[in-house]
Formats: sequence, C-alpha cells, structure tokens
Amino acid sequence: MSDQAETQTRASILVVDDNHANLRLLADLLLTHGYAVHEAMSGPAALEIARTLQPDLILLDIAMPIMDGYQVCQALKADPRTCDIPIIFISALTETEDIVRGFEVGGVDYITRPFRFREVLARVASQITLVRQRREIEALRRQDRQTFESLSRMKDEFIRMATHDLRNPLNVILGYTTVLEHIAVAEEHRPLMDEARQAIRSNVEKMRRLVTDMLELAQMETGEHLRPVAVSLGDFLAEAVGSFHRLAEQREIALTYIPPAQDLVVLVDPDAMTRVMDNLLVNALNYTRPGGRVTVRARGWDGWALIVVADTGIGVPPEDLPHLFDAFYRVNRGHASDVDGSGLGLSIVKTIVERHGGHVRVHSKVGVGSVFRISLPRLSA
Ligand code: ADP
Repeated sequence: MSDQAETQTRASILVVDDNHANLRLLADLLLTHGYAVHEAMSGPAALEIARTLQPDLILLDIAMPIMDGYQVCQALKADPRTCDIPIIFISALTETEDIVRGFEVGGVDYITRPFRFREVLARVASQITLVRQRREIEALRRQDRQTFESLSRMKDEFIRMATHDLRNPLNVILGYTTVLEHIAVAEEHRPLMDEARQAIRSNVEKMRRLVTDMLELAQMETGEHLRPVAVSLGDFLAEAVGSFHRLAEQREIALTYIPPAQDLVVLVDPDAMTRVMDNLLVNALNYTRPGGRVTVRARGWDGWALIVVADTGIGVPPEDLPHLFDAFYRVNRGHASDVDGSGLGLSIVKTIVERHGGHVRVHSKVGVGSVFRISLPRLSA
C-alpha cells in the first residue's frame, strides 16, 4: 500500500448506485486504495446508511429509480446529521445542465462514466483532504474557545481575588496610617515617622487606584453594570468639566468648555460617562504644562454626538499612538514618565464608549498637543 493510501485508510466513503456492476467497479477501486467503503443501491438505503454511519464522502449516482441523486442530495443537505458530508455526483451524462444542477443542489464535484480511474481517485482524494482540513480547523476553533473560556474564568477569579484580597487589606493599612498620624512620638523620630507615613499613604493610594481601575475595566468589559438613561449632553459636560476648574487653576492651565449649538440628547450611563470625561480631563491636565490650554467642545454630526477634548500638551509620539488604548500601556519617555498612572485610563475610556455604541479616536503631535474625539449615537436633535 502506498504512503498516500495508508494515510487514507480511515476515510470512509459511501458509494450509491442502482447498477450493481457500476457499484462494484467503484467500490473495488476505492477498497484497493485503502478507503473504507459502504454501499447502497437506492436513495432511501443511502439516506439510512449516511445518517447512521456518517461517512466522510458520498459518491452519488444521479439516475436512480424511486429517488434520483438530486433528491437524495437535497434530503442529505436538509438533515443536520448529514448536511456537511461532501457529495460527488456520478453521471453517465456529460451535459452541462446535469453538472450545473448537481452543484445547485449542493454537490461539490462530479465524475462521469466511463470512469477514468486516476481521475476518480484524484477527485476523491482532494475531497477527503478538504474534509480533514475542515475537521482540523474545527478542532483548533474548539481548542481556542476552550482556552478563551478558561482565561475568562481565570479573569473572573482574579477579579474576585482582587476585590477581597487586595482592596480590603489596603483599606486596613490606610486606616492604620491615620491612627499613626495621631500617635505622639519622640521629637527625634518625628521626621522619619512623617516620611514613613507619607510613603505608605502614597503607595497604598497608588495600589488602590490600580485595583479600582482594574476592577472597573473588568466590569465595563461585560457591560452588565451600565444603566443608560437619556442625558442632555450640554448639561452633562458643563458639570463634568466644571469639577475640574480648580485643578486646572492650580496647574495654571486654561480650561474652557464650549457647549453644543443645539441640545444633544444621548443614551448613556451617567456614572460611566463621568469616568470617561474624568480620565480624559485628568490626562489632559497631567500631560499639559503650566500656561497651556485644555478645551472641551461638543457638537452634533449626522446621527452622532461628538465630544472633543483638546489640549496643548506634550503630545504622543507616533509610534505610541496605535497602542494608547491598550490596557497598561504607558508612554515612558520624557515628561510622560514623570506622571504616575496605571495605564488603564484610556482602555477604560474606550471600553465604556464602545459599550455605548460609540468610538474614540486620538490625534496627537509631540510638542503641539492631543485631541481625543468621542462619538456617541444621539437620540434626537
Ligand atoms: P495613565 O495616564 O494612567 O498612564 P492612560 O491609559 O490614561 O494611562 O494613558 C496612557 C498613556 O497615554 C499615558 O501614559 C500617556 O503617556 C498617554 N496620554 C494619555 N493622554 C494624553 C494626553 N492628553 N497627552 C499626552 N499623552 C497622553
């Protein structure tokens, strides 16, 4: 047996022909080339065998009494147990019409009598290869799905762990830091005590922010916690920007809000959308030097409401731009590396905006500034 035949040993083929001599001819040819062969001499018998044995391939005669090949093919395609089995039609006729009809009812190829054996074997082998490749792809997909599901379970576990095992101890440490602030210590130990307290507090705050951001991102990815309501975008932004005026003043940055010309109504979860604006405004203020400007504008555009947050800050290098919305991605160069952050802010922004059916885009130029544009589906003009 040749190598090729050996690899085909397990492939099973159902040959359907009402003519016994023809059936034998094909069956013997396939048997001698290492295929497992099942035989049927009528349409109903073929359907029965195909349903129970589910062969890898069917060679199906067109001209048969009771049920012709087309009818058998249609019945096979209509049954979920057999619909994926490829069918090669056998015909004594070479008329294009028969061949075309065969393809129309779901056949994948055809062979004609009198048989040219090498051609029959080549057509059979190519269909068997396709069947195997399809199965391999399906197996890989199943494996991918399983890996994805197990990763997703691990993520859920991690979130549960982060909530209880990280957040709670951090709160305890913070509580005791406050206690330490009120304990009298000898004058000579005071500077060290102050330094220790400050270091604990700022590091715990940093960890708490990171844990909170991670939890928020994980929650937003499922979208389960969103409670969208109709919101007037103009009023919402006035409030969101308003809460940053003091910080902007402290940083000596001019913060301006230009409301939309006409009222825009959007369907959003106000808390989640506040997180979006907070993250964008904190970034704009963090990455803009004193004397700079941050401007927030909104306007309607077709069925969309557009929010623009522009700054005259340090900008983002072009090679970092494509990764900016990735979780944990931070630009670790120049002034950007002086700012503390988790690298999660923009991925939270993107996740929330996309959960609302919108998009976020960024344009930025180093030394000139950055513009973040959010588009959200709008409810009415
Ligand atoms: P974080 O600010 O916590 O590092 P983000 O996901 O919010 O994380 O931002 C990712 C990175 O994108 C930041 O580290 C910063 O380098 C860059 N970035 C974000 N906003 C701006 C901005 N307005 N101007 C310049 N760089 C920015």
